[in-house]
Amino acid sequence: MKYKRILLKLSGEALMGEQSYGIDINRVQQYAKEIQEIHSMGLEVAIVIGGGNIHRGLSAEQAGMDRVQADYMGMLATVINSMALQDALEKNGMKTRLLTAIKMEQICEPFIRRRAVRHLEKGRVVIFGAGTGNPYFTTDTAASLRAIEINADAVLKGTRVDGIYTADPEKDPNAQKFEQISFTEVYEKGLNVMDMTAFTLCQENNLPIIVFDMNKSGNLKKLAEGEDIGTIVS
Ligand code: UDP
Repeated sequence: MKYKRILLKLSGEALMGEQSYGIDINRVQQYAKEIQEIHSMGLEVAIVIGGGNIHRGLSAEQAGMDRVQADYMGMLATVINSMALQDALEKNGMKTRLLTAIKMEQICEPFIRRRAVRHLEKGRVVIFGAGTGNPYFTTDTAASLRAIEINADAVLKGTRVDGIYTADPEKDPNAQKFEQISFTEVYEKGLNVMDMTAFTLCQENNLPIIVFDMNKSGNLKKLAEGEDIGTIVS
């Protein structure tokens, strides 16, 4: 197997499925099955989910809210998503733990790095909720940060597109896909992989990022088996 421990980043929007808001339980169950497949192969799996399907700090600020207040609401939204995924994972027979950057004793554990690593070693799927616990950051940054903290082999960024392209493939029919690309090239070409804070964290810590289509059934498993799916940034 190519990887021993991975951090999977899912966007909140991915959980919406075909809906325009909230959580599509079928989609969450589908993700849980895919995660179960790689977990049963012996892979240690940690997950960070966004909150964009429920609340986004920046949009709320544009609508007139205080940014910091809005960002904390966004972090809470990620906890709701995390709980939905946790439920689906457990329905699929996996042992899980939700660790959050903001304390919520009744529903999850506080994030403690050694504890997270211990859970992974014991074969539990670990979900990191509430982002980094700080406003003005994103869940991509939370994913990079946690991946580094737990010594993950790679960040797997599940998206709607199957990799990194020269231009947005949903807008430009001539867009070409990269099989692999270096951190420097991504930066020089101004490609949008993650926000700069998240991206720089990965670059400075030599943590590969793999961008792939999470909605194509079997992709996650193929990745875990070492197939070249999506685009790898290293
Ligand atoms: N957020 C935050 N700090 C963090 C992570 C998230 O303030 O460390 C807030 C921010 O308002 C963001 C929202 O939570 O808009 C949802 O996260 P994100 O936009 O990253 O979710 P995604 O785009 O992956 O669905």
